Amino acid sequence: MSEASQFWDGARRELAELPGGHGLNIAHVAVDQHVLQGNGQRIAIRWIGSGGSRSDISYQDLSWSASRFANALKALGIGAGDRVFSLLGRVPELHIAALGTWKLRAVFCPLFSAFGPEPVKARMSIAKPVVIVTTSRLFVRKIQPILADLPFLKHVILTDGGAGGLDFNALLAAASPSFEIEPTSPEELAILHFTSGTTGRPKGAMHVHAAAIAHRATAIHALDLKPEDIYWCTADPGWVTGTSYGIIAPLAVGCTLILDEEEFDAERWYSTLEKHRVNVWYTAPTAIRMLIRAGDELPKRFNLSALRFIASVGEPLHPEAVVWGQQVLGRPIHDNWWQTETGGIMIANTADMKIKPGSMGLALPGIEAAIVRRKDDAVEVIAENDAEGELALRPGWPSMFRGYLNEDERYKKCFAGGWYLTGDMATKDTDGYFWFVGRADDVIKSAGHLIGPFEVESALLAHPAVAEAAAIGVPDPVAGEVVKAYVSLRPGHAADEALMKELMAHARKKLGPAVAPRQIAISEDLPRTRSGKIMRRLLKARELGLPEGDTSTLEGAT
Ligand code: AMP
Repeated sequence: MSEASQFWDGARRELAELPGGHGLNIAHVAVDQHVLQGNGQRIAIRWIGSGGSRSDISYQDLSWSASRFANALKALGIGAGDRVFSLLGRVPELHIAALGTWKLRAVFCPLFSAFGPEPVKARMSIAKPVVIVTTSRLFVRKIQPILADLPFLKHVILTDGGAGGLDFNALLAAASPSFEIEPTSPEELAILHFTSGTTGRPKGAMHVHAAAIAHRATAIHALDLKPEDIYWCTADPGWVTGTSYGIIAPLAVGCTLILDEEEFDAERWYSTLEKHRVNVWYTAPTAIRMLIRAGDELPKRFNLSALRFIASVGEPLHPEAVVWGQQVLGRPIHDNWWQTETGGIMIANTADMKIKPGSMGLALPGIEAAIVRRKDDAVEVIAENDAEGELALRPGWPSMFRGYLNEDERYKKCFAGGWYLTGDMATKDTDGYFWFVGRADDVIKSAGHLIGPFEVESALLAHPAVAEAAAIGVPDPVAGEVVKAYVSLRPGHAADEALMKELMAHARKKLGPAVAPRQIAISEDLPRTRSGKIMRRLLKARELGLPEGDTSTLEGAT
């Protein structure tokens, strides 16, 4: 047996099976096992609501609420394999809905609440959920306008009980708090997370109940998380980090998680760390850059002595930020790397190792990572240190995605020669540390959120004045990158201020603020290949004044 499979076997044995040896279910691992072990009174979630309200939810209460939600879904005729979506902010109803869905062996898919109607529609049309849990405000703004395109959607459940849907709280109140989870195979589909590629529709990465094995083990190894900890993951549960490490991992470990409904505010964040005596804090480079901007004096006003470990993920963490953490917060910031498809952390700077600022760290136990070069259908592992290539992983860890929903070809393309190819370019040094170089494709990372250029372009093309559109990421001092779109206009439309404003408003309305371009420019001469495809890479090089690289396929090239 290989070292990696031995590691995962061990991690699996540490997780509680369903009573009677009936398999593995995320909800059991995350809540019910703690209740059975006599820890039901421990606080599972400390929710800080907007306006400063606060409520503590024990593991016992969370287990009961999740059971009530599972019973409520069952009464609506929903069962194993059905898809349940959420479109919610950082509220405990999201955790209850997720856990209740897993209890029922249905499939949970959280959507980001800052998505506009188009990204919501695209994702729902692929996964065809029967239920969505949301608020009346989000329902009116983002679901109602597209409802006619969602014939598969049978129920809308509103957490605030408004018009147009079922009342979440009333459903829970009417349901029994006892629910016996049916035998669950660890390989059953449990979670769908949408991610974006360069072209085509968003991809629904499929994750199974066994993923919880990796969520828990990697939280222990990479985040130094312990059951007695107060833990704060600042990611939104609409994205993979917010689910793997904002719901499942901390609950599976048995600690108390902080859930903060409000948006970023430097002073409030430091005060949250102090007031709740946060021990482990998992955040992202954009937030760290905003804290750095807020100045070094501000954190001195707070007692951060409880803080033991800080980690960051989602985008490159520049070396200065690691050093800033040490100097100003008294703790270095530990960068780690993973992606939607990997389901959990793969490469990390852990508590017990020397940090090399600017590096993503070492492959975790149970993970084999390498730098490779694609060669047709095979790959060649690059033996030479510090040479650039694509980051590749040997498949086999439990939170590895099991496919893209209904997209076998796209899934197959991710593998070659026994490796999973991540789409990230990186290097590896003589000590085995990995260093991020950039993406191999054209996806855009803005404030840690992966944005598919195709989705942005499609929304712009829906405007009658737009003939062609291309979206790229341009550097931004805070968000890392922001979306910039180039459009060419149809005859009869003038590129005046009124039209530019209209295009911006159109894009925001369709895509939502998280995905919409921050800048739109007119270009009547978009670089394209001879086959007519717009060359975003070249557009980006021109925008940034970088070398244009290989332009042999460029239209007009000789
Ligand atoms: P997502 O699937 O949305 O979580 O995005 C995953 C992508 O984010 C990766 O493939 C990388 O391109 C980027 N990413 C994640 N973590 C890091 C990191 N620590 N350093 C650099 N890029 C990262």
